[in-house]
Amino acid sequence: MSRRKEKKIKRLRRVSILPVIIRQTLTETAILLFSIFISALVILTIMHGGFIENRKDCMTIVQAINESSKDVNDPALHDRLKQLEKDLGHVESISLVDESEIKLMADGNTDYDQWINGRAENFLSGKKNFFYVPNFNANEKIDLGPSSTLDFTKFFKVLGVGILTAEDSLIWAEKERSRIEIDAFYRTEIPGVAVCINTPFIITNLHYHMVNFLGLLIVLEIIICLILNLISIMSLVGEKRRLTHLITTDSVTGGLNRYYFINRAPRLIKRQRKNYAVVQIRLEKYTNLCTAYGVKNGENILESIDQKLKHTLRKKEIATHLADADFALLLHYDDRDELYERVFKILEQISDSKSNLNFSAGICPVPDKKADISAVLNDAYLAMPKETKAQNEVAWFDQKMKETTVWERRLEDDMEKAVENHEFSVYLQPKYSAQKETLDAAEALVRWIHPELGFISPGSFIPLFEKNGFILKLDDYMLSEVCKLQSKWISEGKNVVPISVNVSRAHFATPDLAGHIKSIVDQWSVPYEYIELELTESAFFDDKATLLETVKHLKDFGFKLSMDDFGAGYSSLNSLKELPLDIIKLDAEFFRGVEDLSRSNLIVGDTIALAKKLGMRIVAEGIETREQVDFLAQKDCDLIQGFYFSKPLPVNEFEEKAFPEKKPDESE
Ligand code: C2E
Ligand code: MG
Ligand code: MG
Repeated sequence: MSRRKEKKIKRLRRVSILPVIIRQTLTETAILLFSIFISALVILTIMHGGFIENRKDCMTIVQAINESSKDVNDPALHDRLKQLEKDLGHVESISLVDESEIKLMADGNTDYDQWINGRAENFLSGKKNFFYVPNFNANEKIDLGPSSTLDFTKFFKVLGVGILTAEDSLIWAEKERSRIEIDAFYRTEIPGVAVCINTPFIITNLHYHMVNFLGLLIVLEIIICLILNLISIMSLVGEKRRLTHLITTDSVTGGLNRYYFINRAPRLIKRQRKNYAVVQIRLEKYTNLCTAYGVKNGENILESIDQKLKHTLRKKEIATHLADADFALLLHYDDRDELYERVFKILEQISDSKSNLNFSAGICPVPDKKADISAVLNDAYLAMPKETKAQNEVAWFDQKMKETTVWERRLEDDMEKAVENHEFSVYLQPKYSAQKETLDAAEALVRWIHPELGFISPGSFIPLFEKNGFILKLDDYMLSEVCKLQSKWISEGKNVVPISVNVSRAHFATPDLAGHIKSIVDQWSVPYEYIELELTESAFFDDKATLLETVKHLKDFGFKLSMDDFGAGYSSLNSLKELPLDIIKLDAEFFRGVEDLSRSNLIVGDTIALAKKLGMRIVAEGIETREQVDFLAQKDCDLIQGFYFSKPLPVNEFEEKAFPEKKPDESE
């Protein structure tokens, strides 16, 4: 899996609630701020209305003063002001203040005083028509005499209080050094006389309640947000637990799954000061079990195995189901032999004698604390014995297993390209007449000349190609190449000999194999008697009826057929009885490493005699010595193939041997 995908899956599986909480909190905060903003807007709009009203009242008073006799002591002015007190809705009392008193309040000793004085001077010099007195303590009630009792608490309880005199404010401010919200002074045309207002806003009872109500709403909103957040955190934590449980639970066994193993094992390995090994266990023939007893029962068996495995564990060990019939264990150990015994015992414990269950297990030690656990699991899988036997089997991982797998993978990656690039070469091994010792036939053997790996012998890739099916393509290629050669040599008037090609057992699954072979040969117009087909004995174990039919067809077309490696298997004689073949190729093993030569020779002699009686020809393979040649000649063997005469040769060398240039004196 690419890194990007791996990251993506990790991200998907990581159940993190933090981003959700952050997102939620941010959303709630945004909503809260928005509602505070809206509330503030509402309050300010209400207050602004009040401000306009108040200012209007003030201006009415100022205008009244301006239109008076402009004598502060004029009783008419005072009467007029009294009248206004009554008339103007927002005004509680009106007094006039001498501007010179404004300066009284600050003696200039502190920064605060200087600030106040600055503001006062601004007012007095006419730059601004109001100034602020800071540090107002709203809870103070100041008694300024009978005419000017002020209840600041009342102010701020906002009971519709209106205009304050500058004098009141200043005396109070001087006394208290506390903050009054806003004081605005409006100059009158009487020099040194101003009208003072405690606040430019008029706040009515309703306003006050509205502000309180909005404030309460905001507080409520904050509380609700907090509660909602708490509830959602709790539900997310629950959800996270549920999801974690879900992704680590195996859908078949109900126990832990591969994901759990891959995530938990590295943590255990890192934290514990122990040697760990990964064990992969497979229940053999699980598919058969499901076919026989039903998939549900098969899964029940897997579930019970999972349970039993759990009970075999020690502390800090893991057992999980992987997939199909595979399980993984993470076990700690001190001694390898002990671990091996323990795994065996575990297999015994999970085996069910009634159901006749068999298991294979592969053990791979964890190399170090930072080991990639998926890779170790894969190695344990590689170690698992692949051939199913009738009893439990345990095997250790061996580096060679990995090398073989890597090698096979490499060959599989390159094989298709190799055909296109003509990396497969035909080598020809001559077969000599046992009597006359002349080159009478040959066998085509494939060689892979790999551009990077060099020369690869068929023993390393033929079995692999037989497993993966590529042999079909390769054999067709070889047959075609041989036909091409034969066709060329025939057209050149060469004294061609029959060449045999190997036909793998895999071909027998091809419908109309005989027709397929014939069509390849026909492409090159090679007479069929020049092509011989070698069938290995293993092919004879497959579908006998098809085999027999194919053999008959091929014979009908005129191809010669031989049984390769005769005697290497178990039922050679039986096959001989059933199949009408033309040639028997005695396996090289007949002539190799035999202690009792007389016995071996007896068998070879009698086999040759038997073949003769059946009307078959005999080729002896793997002949390396003169004695063997003499013996075979004496026993009436037909052809001899072996290093004694020649190794498999590249085409040009074979040509030199098979079609020697006639010397000038010979031709005459
Ligand atoms: P085979 O068909 O039985 O071929 C004979 C093998 O014995 C060849 O091995 C040959 O080199 C070897 N041999 C011949 N004489 C002697 C001798 O005197 N001493 C020793 N030690 N060996 C001798 P090679 O070429 O390595 O091929 C091995 C097997 O691979 C073949 O056994 C055949 O089964 C298979 N094979 C080779 N080429 C092909 C092919 O094109 N298609 C298929 N399906 N199988 C092939
Ligand atoms: Mg052969
Ligand atoms: Mg052979």
